[in-house]
Amino acid sequence: MTFSNLGLETIFVDAVEKKGYTEPTPVQSKVIPWILKGKDILASAQTGTGKTAGFTLPLLQRLSKQKHHPSRSVRALILTPTRELASQVHENVKEYSVFSDLKSAVVYGGVNQKPQVRKIRSGIDVLVATPGRLLDLHNQGVICFDKIEVLVLDEADRMLDMGFHREISKIIGFLPDKRQNLLFSATFSKDIKSLAQGILNHPVNIETNPENSTVEAINQFVYKVDKVRKTELIIKLIKDGDWDQVLVFTRTKHGANNLCKKMKSSDINAMAIHGNKSQTARTKALAGFKDGTVNVLVATDIAARGIDIPLLPHVVNFELPNIPEDYVHRIGRTGRAGSNGEAVSLVSVDEYPYLEDIQKLISFKIPSEIPDGFPLDPRITAPGPKKKNRSRPRNSKRSRKRSGKRR
Ligand code: AMP
Repeated sequence: MTFSNLGLETIFVDAVEKKGYTEPTPVQSKVIPWILKGKDILASAQTGTGKTAGFTLPLLQRLSKQKHHPSRSVRALILTPTRELASQVHENVKEYSVFSDLKSAVVYGGVNQKPQVRKIRSGIDVLVATPGRLLDLHNQGVICFDKIEVLVLDEADRMLDMGFHREISKIIGFLPDKRQNLLFSATFSKDIKSLAQGILNHPVNIETNPENSTVEAINQFVYKVDKVRKTELIIKLIKDGDWDQVLVFTRTKHGANNLCKKMKSSDINAMAIHGNKSQTARTKALAGFKDGTVNVLVATDIAARGIDIPLLPHVVNFELPNIPEDYVHRIGRTGRAGSNGEAVSLVSVDEYPYLEDIQKLISFKIPSEIPDGFPLDPRITAPGPKKKNRSRPRNSKRSRKRSGKRR
């Protein structure tokens, strides 16, 4: 199968080949022909499957077939949950439109809006945006939605998890009724299904991953360890194993900073990436991690979401997430494109209930052991019956503020 077999024209095939890709990934083979036909899509696809090119290439081809409006108003809107993902998707849009005359821009919060406004005013065809900043700019009259023909919701599950339901509904209320809608999501909760029902028009359903199951190529492993000795253990694992590219997840920003500091003082080249870091600091950490000058990236879930690092050999859960689906997202960062990856979780006694929830979700008992030299302190026992409502509060601005939107 080639990209031109799927119906893509030379300028887009050349653009994707310029990036070194000659064969479409499964999700690309499935979605590209339908998007070219103008159908709505409901696709299950995790980061790492090539989904971005899957929607970007056919979307650009469709736009390139029509004349742009004299005022060059936005014709395609791509919504993403985080600024990292927005800027990565925009990079892709730029790369895939390099041989066409299509113009694009990206907008997200946390940075000065002036350059974004200038770019939009200069006339663009494709806009990549996070919901909050997009609404701000719309309210200020900077963006006109009247000419939008295509809407993409990328990582829709994560947008709902982050409490963007109201913003999404508002944005959709401003768009013209007649448009093509493409919804991509890694998981399919009830909330996603009802969002999809409200937006999509006779969609084609595309499944590329079995629902809520983890990729088979990933070796999963649990080390049972006392909380106070986790740092010592992770440093030992990284040093003894000569791991040179490790993504480590912590639950909090504070935890990420702390761990990073301790690793640095053990001569491990680590950097943290989370919502309190400036955009420049995050970009620098990510670039260093990609080029090998940073060996360990310590991240919180949302900051790590959507970062584009192909073929990660090691993912470590320094703490288990309390939302079981986040475990699936986290370990999905390894074992990509058929290469083997390893996902290690350091689990202390208080996290056993989380481990149970995760194993239930993935229908798999993760092999575990107590590492040599780290015997468990028998005085620390498992917590009593777990509290019922441990899920992340959804769809409420207030709860988002309370839980800290930028984690
Ligand atoms: P995504 O799922 O869109 O985040 O893409 C994951 C990674 O796969 C990115 O590094 C892409 O550049 C890369 N990629 C996209 N399309 C292909 C392809 N056809 N073959 C190989 N890699 C690809």
